[in-house]
Amino acid sequence: MLIGRGLFAARPIQRGELILTFQGPELSLAEVRKKGALAANALQVGRGLYLDLEEPGRLLNHSCDPNVGVFRGVEVRALRYIPTDAELCFDYSTTVGDGWTMACRCDTPACRGIVRAFLTLPEPIRLRYAVLGAVSPFLLDDFSA
Ligand SMILES: [Zn+2]
Repeated sequence: MLIGRGLFAARPIQRGELILTFQGPELSLAEVRKKGALAANALQVGRGLYLDLEEPGRLLNHSCDPNVGVFRGVEVRALRYIPTDAELCFDYSTTVGDGWTMACRCDTPACRGIVRAFLTLPEPIRLRYAVLGAVSPFLLDDFSA
C-alpha cells in the first residue's frame, strides 16, 4: 500500500517551518464509512468531522518517529530539521480519535506495530505531542476530560 508514494523534502526544512495545510471537502463519519477503502484519506479534524484529503496532504505517510507534526488540526510543520530528500511523515495517532487502526511498518525503534487512536498512546508520548502542540485540538479535549 502506498508503495512509491509519499512526500519528500525538496530542500532543507527548518524546525517549525509550515510545510502545507491539509485541505479537502468536509465529511461526516457516515460519509467516511460509505467511501470504504478510500476512507484511508480521511483526516479527522473534530468529533464526527473529517476532511477528504486532497494532494499533497493525502500523500503524507505515517511514522511512529515522525519528522513533521499536525498543528491546529491542519497545519503540517517540521518537528525537527529535515534534510533534502528525507520523507515527510507524521504520527497518524495525533489526528485519530475513533476506532481506526493501521498496521505500521515504519521500522523505527519507536514503532508501535499498530497505529491507533491518540488516547491509546503511552502517556509520555501523549504528553510530548501535547506540549509540542502537535496533536489535533479536539483530542486534547478528550485528554483533559
Ligand atoms: Zn511504526
